[in-house]
Amino acid sequence: MRQKIVAGNWKMNKSLEEATILASEVKGMVADEVKGNVKVILCTPFPYLITINNLLGKDNHISVSAQNCSEFESGAYTGEVSAPMLKSIGIPYVILGHSERRQYFGEDAKLLAKKVDVSLKHQLIPIFCCGEPLEVREKGGHEALVKKQVEESLFHLDESAVQKVVIAYEPVWAIGTGKTATSQQAQDMHAVIRKHLASKYGQSVADTISILYGGSVNAANAKELFACPDVDGGLVGGASLKSREFTEIIKSI
Ligand code: PEP
Repeated sequence: MRQKIVAGNWKMNKSLEEATILASEVKGMVADEVKGNVKVILCTPFPYLITINNLLGKDNHISVSAQNCSEFESGAYTGEVSAPMLKSIGIPYVILGHSERRQYFGEDAKLLAKKVDVSLKHQLIPIFCCGEPLEVREKGGHEALVKKQVEESLFHLDESAVQKVVIAYEPVWAIGTGKTATSQQAQDMHAVIRKHLASKYGQSVADTISILYGGSVNAANAKELFACPDVDGGLVGGASLKSREFTEIIKSI
């Protein structure tokens, strides 16, 4: 059975004190209410990873994630954080290829393939983001573009490696805009991604890979989105910064 995941991407927000309060509140709710095959992931800024990871402790239902890592393992790369460093402090997940990284930091498919490799080499689970800008969707090129993004950064992996990856479909026009994809649009694209994975790796492999939806998920729309058969949870930005709303979203799964 595919893992259900609700990940909160805090981006570059919160002080350490605010981050600690938010994580404690979410942890309390998860301890009381989250059961079975569901995982909650808090994607915190780098400086808070150790603190929040310690605060969460050993609970199979809640983990931390980094929001990025370097394609290099070590060396003279001032300001970068490597996968082995994240591994050494016990971080299990890393977001790769978020559209903000692609857009503002010029991350392309080739670079992301390297980041995927170095993450997997150091036992970090990549949460690999893909998604089309508005102009591409308006011209009807969204499926082709998302297939290409997945293909170019993941299809060099072998069967066992690709099954470790979590994919997040995040249409760029829905991120931080309050404009959510309809559940039909989300389901359609998730099915396209899964079919594409199946064409390369076979249906049984494709069926094990969790595909999350991201883009203005909130407490009001999460239930309908998460009910789609190929939507295995969400990557949540703005709404993950408020414990009340985020815990409502978690309850929707
Ligand atoms: C995100 O940052 O991945 C995201 C989906 O943001 P938001 O939920 O704010 O649209």
